[in-house]
Amino acid sequence: MNMSQMTLSDDQDMSDFRAFSHGLYIDGQRRPSSNGRVIEVVNPSTEAVFAAVPDATPADAVAAVDAAARAASGWRATPPRKRSEILRRCFELMVERSETLATLISMENGKALRDARGEVAYAAEFFRWNAEEAVRITGEFGIAPSGTNRIVVDYQPIGICVLITPWNFPAAMATRKIAPALAAGCTVILKPASETPLTAYALAAIYEEAGVPPGVVNVLTTSDPGPVTAAMLADPRVRKLSFTGSTAVGRLLLAEAAKHVVSCSMELGGNAPFIVFDDADLDAALDGAMVAKMRNAGEACTAANRLYVQSGIYEAFSQGLRERMAALKVGAGTEAEVECGPMITRKAVDKIDRLVKDAVARGARVLCGGSVLDRKGYFYPPTVLCEVPADAEMAHEEIFGPVAPISRFEDEGDVIERANDTEYGLAAYIYTRDLARGMRVASKIESGMIALNRGLMSDPAAPFGGVKQSGLGREGGQHHGIAEFMEMKYLAVTM
Ligand code: NAP
Repeated sequence: MNMSQMTLSDDQDMSDFRAFSHGLYIDGQRRPSSNGRVIEVVNPSTEAVFAAVPDATPADAVAAVDAAARAASGWRATPPRKRSEILRRCFELMVERSETLATLISMENGKALRDARGEVAYAAEFFRWNAEEAVRITGEFGIAPSGTNRIVVDYQPIGICVLITPWNFPAAMATRKIAPALAAGCTVILKPASETPLTAYALAAIYEEAGVPPGVVNVLTTSDPGPVTAAMLADPRVRKLSFTGSTAVGRLLLAEAAKHVVSCSMELGGNAPFIVFDDADLDAALDGAMVAKMRNAGEACTAANRLYVQSGIYEAFSQGLRERMAALKVGAGTEAEVECGPMITRKAVDKIDRLVKDAVARGARVLCGGSVLDRKGYFYPPTVLCEVPADAEMAHEEIFGPVAPISRFEDEGDVIERANDTEYGLAAYIYTRDLARGMRVASKIESGMIALNRGLMSDPAAPFGGVKQSGLGREGGQHHGIAEFMEMKYLAVTM
């Protein structure tokens, strides 16, 4: 394999993913892993292996930290305007290459092309937004209450950052970390998910072309993330861990980071309630439910996981959702017109199947879908369940698939209690025409983000993140996202 071929352009031959699927990206160089092993990449729509990437070892990870350390002082000293222009160029190149990137995402993740295009647009926005933020980093200045000195607060880059991302948004979860880290003046090592490594490497080629110097962004893939991450966190030069993934792995990483008191930002799992009051605009609620449930075929941390519908609108909403879900076109992500692609793995399908069978055994009724599709690929059909009881496992676990479980509620206090009956607190949706009620319910729901009469809340300009066991810290937002990659330095100054 010719590693110098690893660039991505719009005329890239998409049948030859191997042209850019090899090579750890360390210090601006592509290299094999030190043990020579590879991880195979599977297309979930076909179950075919279509690429391979190196399987990094802890020694490779330390080499990436070395590269990030060598690049750190130069990048930190690069004027914010220059950093901003490079980030802006990353945005422009991603937009120019969006169709190629979307196809790549669709091939390795399985998601429908329309979702993949949406992801590329969203992912690119983090570069545009942080290009604008890079030149707006300010400090603070105050007078000590004693009057004896001034209090000056300087914001500085936190240092070398380890970034770990999941497979469900291979581009956006990476750029949501890389763009603010670079804007702040940090250098990074990204470890993408093993199922979807190609997008991360393709984006690395874009950063390079945009002018990101060698060593500022390093990318490595591994099938053994525990020891590889531990080696990086044990290195005293690493000062930050920013993780997006499951709560279970987040807990392990918090414990690992605690050994070395490494600063952590955690974007973890969700169990979003989607609440529809009797007075809601039915069509708007159905449109919103389709987005909140079916973006990425339900494989989203913000996905509506529990739909609570008030008695007066329950039948109309359930039937309306059944019609819309049953009409979705299921198929390979890259096929035109497909609206619901496959799940990421066979294991993911098995989990959804288990959760649906459990709900049905406890009394839920299947309105559409409800069993695994008999075809090649990791497919589960769009499914609507009604009368889902509170003790169903899916009311407490992330479904992460195209299953909409509907439960009935009578009054506001009851639904707030049920919505909060979870260890998670990432996202929630409320539909009502009564703004006062919407605001009141929103204030009582334990969630980092609430969408009121909307099915979508993700926005680089807004602080994304959860409470309870859904996470620590925020990504995006006016200064919030970048602040996660900065450290305060206080100066007491006598004047
Ligand atoms: P995951 O299993 O937690 O994996 C996430 C990342 O962590 C992957 O890169 C994975 O590598 C790595 N990892 C796994 N075990 C590790 C270990 N012991 N040490 C270091 N790294 C380790 O999550 P996932 O299945 O990829 O993603 C789905 C989850 O992410 C869901 O819970 C979803 O809600 C959550 N999520 C949250 C947000 C948010 O913003 N809050 C956004 C998207 C997704 P491998 O791939 O090699 O296992």
